[in-house]
Amino acid sequence: MLPEAEINRVLVVTAHPDDADFGSAGSVALFVDRGVEVTYLLVTDGDAGGNERTLDNTGMAELRRAEQRAAAKAVGVTDVRFLGHPDGQVVPSLELRRSIARVIRQVRPDLVVTHHPDRNYRFIAPSHPDHRAVGGATLDAVYPDARNPYAFPELLLEEGLEAWTVREVWLTGGPAPDHYVDITGVLDRKLAALQAHVSQVSHVEGFAETVKGRFAAWARQAGFEEDRYAEAFQVVPTA
Ligand SMILES: [Zn+2]
Repeated sequence: MLPEAEINRVLVVTAHPDDADFGSAGSVALFVDRGVEVTYLLVTDGDAGGNERTLDNTGMAELRRAEQRAAAKAVGVTDVRFLGHPDGQVVPSLELRRSIARVIRQVRPDLVVTHHPDRNYRFIAPSHPDHRAVGGATLDAVYPDARNPYAFPELLLEEGLEAWTVREVWLTGGPAPDHYVDITGVLDRKLAALQAHVSQVSHVEGFAETVKGRFAAWARQAGFEEDRYAEAFQVVPTA
C-alpha cells in the first residue's frame, strides 16, 4: 500500500450525491486533517432520488448538488465537481472515461477512491448499476486512459492536460474488502455529512443508529477493539 506520507491528493469519484458520505467520508475527514487535498467528482446529480412519491423531480438536481456541497464541507472538502449525467442511466462509455480521465489529469491525485465495479452478492445495496458503471469507468480512466498520452489525445492537444499515473485505487462496496480505516474519531463528522442529504435521509427513522451499526460491523470484521467504527475498502495498486 501507498505510505500515508505519499498521499497528498485524493480524488473521490462516485455516481450519486451521498455515495461518498456512505463509503468514505470518515477516511476523507482523516485525510483532510492531515492536509491532504481532496476533490469529489460526481457523475450524476441524483435527480432520480428522493422520497416524494411524485414523478415531478423538478429542482431535485439543484437540491442534491447543494446537499452534496454541504456534506463535503462537513468533512472539509470544498472542491466538488459534477458531470451531470442522468441518474439511473450511467454506462461505462468512452465519453465517461474521457470525462473522468480529464479530471484525473487536472487534479493529479495519488489515490482515487471509487465504487467497486463488481456486484456484491452478499449485500446488494452498494451494487447499483450506476455504481458499477462509475467504478468500471474510473478504473479504466486510471488505467490506461489518464496515464497514456495517446488515449484521448485531445485532452493534451486541446486542453494541455499531461498524462498522469494514479498510484493506488480504493474500492468501496465490494465483496472482499482488505483495508479498514478506523473512523471512530471522526464519526460525528461522517454522520453530519450523511445527514446533510436531507432529501434522502431525514424521513428515515433511526438513520444514524442504522448506519452506525454498519460501520461498527466493519470494525468488528477488521478485528478492531470494542466500540470502534470503520470504513472498508479493497485496495488496488495501480502504479
Ligand atoms: Zn449511489
